[in-house]
Amino acid sequence: MPRFRSFLLVSSFLFALGGATVSAAQIQGPAAPVVAGLATIYPELDALYIDLHQTPELSLHEEKTAAKMADRLRRLGFEVTERVGGFGVVGILRNGKGPTVMLRTDLDALPVEEKTGLSYASKVTAADDSGATVSVMHACGHDVHMTSWIGAATLLSKAKDKWRGTLMMVGQPAEEKGGGARSMLQDGLFTKFPKPDFAVAFHDSAQAPSGTLAYTSGYALANVDSVDLTIFGKGGHGAYPHTTVDPIVIAARTVVALQTIVGRENNPLDPAVVTVGSIHGGTKHNIIPDEVKLQLTVRSYKEEVRKRLLAAIERIAKAEAAAAGALKPPQVQVTDGTPATYNDPVLTKRVATALSQAFGASRVLETEPVMGGEDFSEYGRAGVPSVIFWVGAVAPEKYEAAKKAGTALPSLHSPLFAPDREATLKTGVSALTVAAFELLARP
Ligand code: ZN
Ligand code: ZN
Repeated sequence: MPRFRSFLLVSSFLFALGGATVSAAQIQGPAAPVVAGLATIYPELDALYIDLHQTPELSLHEEKTAAKMADRLRRLGFEVTERVGGFGVVGILRNGKGPTVMLRTDLDALPVEEKTGLSYASKVTAADDSGATVSVMHACGHDVHMTSWIGAATLLSKAKDKWRGTLMMVGQPAEEKGGGARSMLQDGLFTKFPKPDFAVAFHDSAQAPSGTLAYTSGYALANVDSVDLTIFGKGGHGAYPHTTVDPIVIAARTVVALQTIVGRENNPLDPAVVTVGSIHGGTKHNIIPDEVKLQLTVRSYKEEVRKRLLAAIERIAKAEAAAAGALKPPQVQVTDGTPATYNDPVLTKRVATALSQAFGASRVLETEPVMGGEDFSEYGRAGVPSVIFWVGAVAPEKYEAAKKAGTALPSLHSPLFAPDREATLKTGVSALTVAAFELLARP
């Protein structure tokens, strides 16, 4: 999930667990013979995971990570193209007549200092875009995604006699910044390469136990828009307010008035969030500043709700400035956001049914949508039926202990986020393989 868009993926403590983890042998259904190879390849996947975990790269800097993914796919017999929309990787495996199924992983990590205490914790530092040195960690678990994605590519490429169609592996950069999918699409992902019939991805969940899966049909993740608002006043001495137009007072009123958008203007049945996450103005007790800057995050599902929220923010900001006699209207800047992720209901049902059959119904739950964002949505908006589901990453004993104590588990993006390695990876590999196998044709 993009940075600063962190969220709890799955409602806390949704699962009642038997405690056992999923092993490849437990997979049932038509994909079972394909997944059966997992035990053999797991040691290599485990080593890949540890390597990726120890060598995280920030968004738009995924050069070495992408090269590793490309190299693995090439060795599996995929036709590989690198540097698609930045450090994006596309691997194509043509295997006769049948649908094209796209599996997507993200590649990037976060500026977070790992504090898990694991023997293989990341110690990487790097320069961020401002030039500052920051610690880097796969705190969102994109290393879990990549390892599972390579695992699924391996199992499916070894079982080419069991399916027909085209497998399209997409390694996407800059998910945390929200622009990676868009830049791959702009660089011809669906024109230079086959446009897939289906797109599938998963995200690990820091709120669900390993060995479990969860999905949402329809809107699953929100539109995410960032608004930068600058309120202009007229500065002066704090002792002579009558000679000024105080932007701090305008900002205070604006913040309160903005709350009425969701409270009074929005249909209560349409989810929406307007959060003012940052407010900066002034330097000293006795100086009235010239301006105040605010930063907002705005969330919704429906496009018409999104438009109404953004229009209301602008209207209220301008009206509050006018009410205070500001000399000029505020500047309202909306940054291109991440559109809402819509899980195609027909595809979701098909994939969820296959997963339930493979893992057992008690391990695959339907869950509520969340107000976080995910630029996987872009593939659906480009006309490809898509589904993203959640793979639990919490050790069952930690999950049960937190549930019992009523305490919060470390969230995604937390320096303490430590996926339950083997069970999470095995579930991730199996789930992606089962989903792809379900959608490909049979010989
Ligand atoms: Zn994230
Ligand atoms: Zn993520």
